[in-house]
Amino acid sequence: MLIEEMTMAEFAEGLARTRTVYIPFGSVEEHGNHLPLSTDTIQAYEVGKAVACKIPLFVAPPVHYGCCRSTACHPGTISITTGTLKSLLKDIVRSFHAHGLQQFVVLTSHAGGSHRMALQDAGEELIVELPDIAMAVVTEYDLAKGEGRFLIETPNDAHAGEIETSRIMHTNPLLVKGTGEAEYPTFPTGILVRQKRNYWPNGVWGDPTKATAEKGRRLQELVVNKVIELVKALQEFKE
Ligand SMILES: [Zn+2]
Repeated sequence: MLIEEMTMAEFAEGLARTRTVYIPFGSVEEHGNHLPLSTDTIQAYEVGKAVACKIPLFVAPPVHYGCCRSTACHPGTISITTGTLKSLLKDIVRSFHAHGLQQFVVLTSHAGGSHRMALQDAGEELIVELPDIAMAVVTEYDLAKGEGRFLIETPNDAHAGEIETSRIMHTNPLLVKGTGEAEYPTFPTGILVRQKRNYWPNGVWGDPTKATAEKGRRLQELVVNKVIELVKALQEFKE
């Protein structure tokens, strides 16, 4: 049930089928010269759409903006602060809760450290504030790292590399412009740098030349199955 396409009446009817909502988080962020700025958002939303084809589930409109630190200087990265991101998630959950939703799956395909922590922090505050909800905050990486590593070839593939290029080749092939080039940036250990692009010129971390649409299909299928397991666990969760 894609909320952005539903009517008021359909939303109300949907509450009789499930009280669980999946909220996809992405970013507007450079993904090399070959992938779209919305790569993370596309991945999180496509997973939600695929899950909703298999089980009753509300899928919220995706949150396109995220907190991007290491790519902040690259053209096209549009970042929001962690405080804004936290407030955004809290307001969205409070409003869904007021409309009767009980279980919240927050999946972010952008996995930057401060972005993840802001979402988790918001989630921790929400479960205290709203004692009748159950909530999960996860990245795709959390869900897929175990089995997913057998599906790809590149060690330490992290950003716009084999994994993400495969995913977009699978779901949105027309948005992939060429093959990209392998890159492994090295930032000085522990030192915060202003000119981040000097250490990471092309904005790729991993090897996009190893990407295929079939790998993307299998990776997405893996994440979809993990989200279905997570939704069921959350619906049965008692403490
Ligand atoms: Zn990404």
